[in-house]
This record gives sequence, C-alpha cells and structure tokens, in this order.
Amino acid sequence: MHGIDLFRLDGRVALITGGSKGLGMAMASGLASAGADVLLTSRNETEVQQAALEITDASSSTVIGLEADVTKPEDAQRTVDHAIKKFGKIDILINNAGINIRGPIEDLTPEQFEQVMATNTTGPWLMCRAVAPHMKRAGYGRVINLSSTLGVVGLVERSPYATSKGALIMMTKVLALEWAEQGITVNAICPGPFLTPMNEPIADTEWSNHVIGSCVAMRRWGQLHEIQGAAIYLASDASSFVTGTTLLVDGGWTAH
Ligand code: NAD
Repeated sequence: MHGIDLFRLDGRVALITGGSKGLGMAMASGLASAGADVLLTSRNETEVQQAALEITDASSSTVIGLEADVTKPEDAQRTVDHAIKKFGKIDILINNAGINIRGPIEDLTPEQFEQVMATNTTGPWLMCRAVAPHMKRAGYGRVINLSSTLGVVGLVERSPYATSKGALIMMTKVLALEWAEQGITVNAICPGPFLTPMNEPIADTEWSNHVIGSCVAMRRWGQLHEIQGAAIYLASDASSFVTGTTLLVDGGWTAH
C-alpha cells in the first residue's frame, strides 16, 4: 500500500468508548467511512444503540453498540470480550469517554476529583490492559487516547480535568514504549474546544467567549468533523512509524 490507500481501514475493527455522541461519535463515523467495523460503548444503552444505527445507515460498515462504564474493570473486560466475540479481533482502540467537572479547587470535593480521574485516566488504563493480550497476539494495534489541550497547557478552574489529561499523555508515552516492538502504536489526540455536549453548559458564556477569543488562534470552536482526520490518520497504516506522540487539534491554542 502507498499514498492515499494507507488511510483506508477496510477489514479493521475499532472499539471506541463513549461513542454515543460528541467527538466519539464523530470519530466512529469517520472510521466507518474509511471502511472499519466499529463497536461503540456508552453508559446509556438506548443512546449507544441509536448512535450505532445512525452510523450504520450512513456507511457500509458494521457498527454495533454496547452499554458499558469505563470506570469499572469488569466492564472493560466485558467490552473487549464482546468485540472479540462479534468481530474476532480488535485492531484499533480509541479511549474517548471522558468527563469534566469545573470549578476552583476549594469548591470541589475529593469525590469529584476521583470521579474525573476514574473516567479520564483509570478508564483508558483499564481498556488498554484489557486489549493488550489481543493486540500482542495479533502483533498489531492502534491505540488512540483522547487527551486535551488542557493536558498540555493550564487553565484555571480545571484542576481535576487537566490533571487527568496530563496523566493520560504520560500513559500514552509509557505504553508506546512497552509495546513499541510488538506492532502496537499508542498516541494521543489533544483536541482544543469543540462544541459537544460536554461544552454545552459553557457555550456562549462570557467566559467561553473570552477563552475562545484569546486562547484559540482561529478564534472559533472546532466543528465535529474536524477531529476525523486525526483519528483516521492515527488509526491507519499512514501513521505506522508514529508512536508515543500527541497530535494537537486545537485551532492554534498551543502555538502561542
Ligand atoms: P461528550 O460529553 O460530548 O461525550 C463523552 C462521551 O463519554 C459520552 O458519550 C458519555 O456518555 C461518555 N462517557 C462519560 N463517562 C463515561 C463512562 N464512565 N463510561 C462510558 N462512557 C462514558 O464529550 P466530548 O466533548 O465528545 O469529549 C470526548 C473526549 O474528548 C473526552 O475524553 C474529552 O475529555 C475529550 N476532549 C473534548 C474536548 C471538547 O472540546 N469537546 C476538548 C478536549 C478533549
């Protein structure tokens, strides 16, 4: 294969956590359009089945949904077992499920901090641990962790979220090294602000308009389809010599 064909995902199987909406669903639909079959997970059975149906209708891939919570070790194993049962392998894992609890540190509880860490950091760790034997046996894998611009730069009132995303970048590097000689690449995507359900509560506030206007060089929110190129690239053979890195899709935030 060479050139544009390197980006095709025909015959590949992708597992995407938190894929029922937002960036997860956009990446799922991007991967399906490139030929991959996809297993989506979410905590809400109805939402995840609806999302799987929508993507199936718009592509020629097989897309299925599964209710699962990334914070639970037993759910991580059940998710991987389900993918293996349905598709026989897992080529691509996208650790996308994530939450954000905002506020000054004095207003946040230890439980809120732990909840963010459990979802954004422990969840990907559990999923990586569960897929490892399958990817190692196959001698092939593409792991993509959804970190954040806030894993790289600081922003006030984001102490749980930025901590969890910075940790995810380090996990990406360590697992890239652990698996480097086994055909498995591990990379992170760091999105800037995208207008997804996660950001709806702060959309069009004075605060978010200020952040978008002063931090994001392009002075706008990212649109959902603008995450797809990065996901397809890191999921495909086009990125075969790329591991342990972070790809910023941030409208120029970190160029400052
Ligand atoms: P979103 O809130 O729109 O969607 C997140 C998805 O994760 C939802 O489907 C939700 O149900 C799922 N989820 C949450 N907790 C879960 C759990 N315990 N188990 C399983 N699923 C769970 O979020 P989004 O904006 O699409 O973000 C997707 C990822 O990208 C997250 O990791 C987020 O931190 C990251 N990110 C988003 C932005 C942004 O601007 N939207 C920026 C940087 C990074």
